[in-house]
Amino acid sequence: MTSTLHHSHDSSCACCFALPPYLTEHLRRHARNRRVRESLARMHEDSQQQRIVRRAALSMRRRAPGATPEPKLDRRIYDCEKTTDLLKRLVRKEGGRRTQDAAISEAYDYSGMVFRFFETVYRRASIDNENLPLVSSAHYQEQEDVGYDNAFWTGRQMVYGDGDGVLFNRFTIARDVVGHELTHGVTQYEAALKYERQSGALNEHFSDVFGVLARQWADKDGDPKAADWTVGNKLFKPTRLRKMSLRNMKAPGTAYDDPELGRDPQPAHMKDYKELPNTDLGDWGGVHVNSGIPNHAFYRAAVSIGRPAWEVAGKIWYIALCDRLRDNANFAKCAYETISVARDFYDGATAHKVQTAWMEVGVLTAQQRLVA
Ligand SMILES: [Zn+2]
Repeated sequence: MTSTLHHSHDSSCACCFALPPYLTEHLRRHARNRRVRESLARMHEDSQQQRIVRRAALSMRRRAPGATPEPKLDRRIYDCEKTTDLLKRLVRKEGGRRTQDAAISEAYDYSGMVFRFFETVYRRASIDNENLPLVSSAHYQEQEDVGYDNAFWTGRQMVYGDGDGVLFNRFTIARDVVGHELTHGVTQYEAALKYERQSGALNEHFSDVFGVLARQWADKDGDPKAADWTVGNKLFKPTRLRKMSLRNMKAPGTAYDDPELGRDPQPAHMKDYKELPNTDLGDWGGVHVNSGIPNHAFYRAAVSIGRPAWEVAGKIWYIALCDRLRDNANFAKCAYETISVARDFYDGATAHKVQTAWMEVGVLTAQQRLVA
């Protein structure tokens, strides 16, 4: 561990990496393959990726009020050609010819899928609701001989590594991870939830919700009881990890359990809430850890409501994110706002189901009920 892991945190930086620091830290010590250990050697340190994210963060702003324009998809895919130069070569523009490169095609197709999801289901015009072009850079790499093991949203655009090829596949492969990262952009323009402690865990939570919903919507996976609630289940390469994923909204804490990866640390209930330091290595107070609690509340609300999760539960959460929550919101605030949106836009029965879900994960007690 180096001291750079503890550099002070700029909380206006809503950067997010697909692989959280506790996972890369475990792998750095326990991965059997040298290439994997090397690939992760500098992850989450003061490396090129951090400088890119900090620079982009300076240009971040909240959405301007006003009418939504007609949604118009505008994708630009760059090939870093195994460097850290995000704009090294523009290889595909909107409507441009398909290439043989799987990562480039996936970055194009899946950013399009996420755009269509937000457009069709919530009438949103891209990340900023003002038709921000969707820029993606694939084949990002920091070390000469090994693929980069992560993906991230810089505050302006998506960046994907190729993975080490041993433990991790290329990071464009998981549609819900693409949706997760792009939703960080949506959150940045809406509630702008501070990326630390409970507000940070909510930031992570909304990315998991809409990342998973975009995939469920694209797959017409509309029965919440039977739907796939995992995040990132195609990222792991070895056969023994085929059933494992990064997170599981249906059963937080069970996504993975493996000598190399460690064990999924997510709680599903407030009694298991983890107080962690507000540092990089502490996952900024456990933003990828404690998000298991609201994630599970969302799952329970969706199952209880019974419609395709993107239709009612997703709409309630989307309105709360855009119109009701501020940057310092905590779990209880999110519970109250989703319950009141359910009451305002649907009915008392729906509000009651949302409230029950938040009570089942221990965020609200019986005394804190909003609807009878
Ligand atoms: Zn994230």
